[in-house]
Amino acid sequence: MKKLAIAALAAAVLCGCSDSGADKVKMITEATFPPYEFLRGHEIVGIDVEICRAVAQKLGREFSCETVDFDSVIPAVISGKADLAAAGITITEDRKKNVDFSVPYVKTGIVVIYKKSVGFTGAEQLKGKKIGVQGGTTSETYVLNELKQEPERSRSPAESVAALKSGRVEFVIADIDPAKNCVKGEPDLAISDFITSEEYAIAIKKGQPELLKAINETIAEIKADGRLAKWIADYTAEADKLKDK
Ligand code: GLN
Repeated sequence: MKKLAIAALAAAVLCGCSDSGADKVKMITEATFPPYEFLRGHEIVGIDVEICRAVAQKLGREFSCETVDFDSVIPAVISGKADLAAAGITITEDRKKNVDFSVPYVKTGIVVIYKKSVGFTGAEQLKGKKIGVQGGTTSETYVLNELKQEPERSRSPAESVAALKSGRVEFVIADIDPAKNCVKGEPDLAISDFITSEEYAIAIKKGQPELLKAINETIAEIKADGRLAKWIADYTAEADKLKDK
């Protein structure tokens, strides 16, 4: 508990977000998800951070960003603690019951991370196996709903991959981009093709049509003028380099 409080305080201080600025646009994320959000030293950076900063700019407001566990990202906008939830969040029917989603900004999906010595032949192979996933994600839902079993939950894709390397789990399921980042520099690990088709969007508290409109316009603009493509290229390269260190 104490550890969590210290981490939250550190995150708040490091991204310069005191609660005083009522008119700041507050983004909530989960910064273990490169290249969408990750830590550059103590600063939260990534594609999602740039998108939300562009939304704040469009609204003519200041911007701040905070990181929490993935499970707490959507609850933070429902409770009004934050304005924009952006954390590589997949649009799902279940989540749509609780939040409004922007238009999608990326098409993606989840993949299986496996040991080359074991190989991966298809979803059938996963049945009854110990599968590591980040808690609260569509990877967890996949194991629960499609494989009809309990996953081994962790707090980040990297933590699940550490469990795979040490033999505590037999496979990991994660979104493709953090999965690629995790297997970089790991000659014994590989990733499968997509096992789902998903889309990322920004989630906000329901009933804010003007904010939703501003977000959707921003997404259309950054797609059209090449900013989104540039952020994807730049942050993928930066996250890969961080892995090399
Ligand atoms: N896209 C996945 C989801 O929405 C994972 C997101 C994440 O772990 N940051 O559940």
